[in-house]
Amino acid sequence: MNKGEMKKVRGKWLAIMFIVLTVLLAGCKENNSKETAGTAKNVTSEVKEDIPTIYDTAITINVDEKTLTGTLKVKSTNNTGKTQDKIYFHVYPNQFREGVDLLGGFWREIIDKNSVPGSMEITEVQVNGEKGSFQIKDTVLEIPLDDNWTKGSTIDLELNFTMRVPKNNGRFSYDENAIWLGNWIPIQAVSDEAGWVTEPYHSIGDPFYSQVGTYNVKVTVPSNYQVTSTGKEEGGVLEQDGSLTYTTSIDNVRDFAMVVMNESYQKLTDQVGKTTVNTWYLASESNEAAKKNHEAGIKALTYFSKVYGPYPYPEYDIVRTGMFTAMEFPGLVYLPKNERNEAEIGSVVHETAHQWWYGMVGNNEVKEPWLDEAVATYSTTRFMLEEYPEHGAGDLELRKHLTQGTEVHERRGLFIGSPVDKFTNIGSYSQLVYQKGALMLENLEKVIGKEKMDQLLQNYFKKYQYEIATGSDFISVFSDDLGPEAQEYFENWLTGKEPEFKQ
Ligand SMILES: [Zn+2]
Repeated sequence: MNKGEMKKVRGKWLAIMFIVLTVLLAGCKENNSKETAGTAKNVTSEVKEDIPTIYDTAITINVDEKTLTGTLKVKSTNNTGKTQDKIYFHVYPNQFREGVDLLGGFWREIIDKNSVPGSMEITEVQVNGEKGSFQIKDTVLEIPLDDNWTKGSTIDLELNFTMRVPKNNGRFSYDENAIWLGNWIPIQAVSDEAGWVTEPYHSIGDPFYSQVGTYNVKVTVPSNYQVTSTGKEEGGVLEQDGSLTYTTSIDNVRDFAMVVMNESYQKLTDQVGKTTVNTWYLASESNEAAKKNHEAGIKALTYFSKVYGPYPYPEYDIVRTGMFTAMEFPGLVYLPKNERNEAEIGSVVHETAHQWWYGMVGNNEVKEPWLDEAVATYSTTRFMLEEYPEHGAGDLELRKHLTQGTEVHERRGLFIGSPVDKFTNIGSYSQLVYQKGALMLENLEKVIGKEKMDQLLQNYFKKYQYEIATGSDFISVFSDDLGPEAQEYFENWLTGKEPEFKQ
């Protein structure tokens, strides 16, 4: 998610932020003239060969009923380090079923009064070709394994399912022009040193955590609909009933999102190296704004590829949806419901930065949300200062205001390093995890220099690309180079203190 979500915060804090933002961005001209600059050396992409989980799915989407029906086959290799007698999947669509009280936490903001619940039904599960048992508790599917799933061995699962898409302002919903399917596909939970991580679907933050996998997806839609996704679609084979089937395969991604769009959508397309960049927008939107968004996406993808490491996927999609904020998925990002018909460069760049921080370098976004959000917010401003300097200066000015008064939260035990489930509102979450988290990195940069920061983030990227990093992994990359003072610096900032970095 991006700072746009702060718009939802009520009260004085919002008013201050809005005034500051309006003043800062008024008359902001984008500087398109300069060549992309980054100070770190170019790096080459690595291909991970031991992808632990392969997802094969074939679904049919009924756009009138808003249903997805199909099967998911999962071939998973046990890389948990021990024998398992169960396996867990996240089934996030089940959060929006009938009868769930969604007025707690931040859900109130997402589930407006006109929302319509959805449903998720798993009709059958097979384990190694035989009918298996299963149970779903909220957004977690548990499948017991009769035969032990030993370390290094592979299991074959098959799930048959039907889901009805809910109507709300969230990641998985629809409007009159599109169905946007974020977190729809059951994804295997991570088993780390603490065991299986089966966190509920928290309302604050982007509470996701998964390993990379291969996704082979086949999706059938009516012929007057278009599909874009995390993968690059081979498009549309005509079925006997007149519908179209798109197929796509992609490696090394930790989720698979899709948007199904009617003919009101159009796209801008450009090639950046081996990657096709598409910006999908409604015909009713400003062409000029769409062009600016598209250009920002291209520039950011180019810049981060050069500074941190190449974007390795064949496609990158920036897609208008009706979600209340922008949102990142691997290879595809949402722009929010378009109310102002202006360019959303800040959102485009922030979500593009997430392709590196969250997408390629994974982390437990429940336990350590700062690890992707603070780093993405920092990277966004770093880019902006080079490519859109007035916007970058605006980011820094805004940060100065938003990081004042954080003691109120810190006295209640909330810090940059707190997990999402500690936060009870989006205001404190944004102020600490995004803004103060980015300030922590900017204050370090002031001492060690931009070049060193770029180099260390590149080292971090290279070491953890397609893997899962923890906060202490991130800190180690810095302290390996800068000495133990770096560890002390981060640990203090993450727990509410604000020391200067001294080498
Ligand atoms: Zn974000």
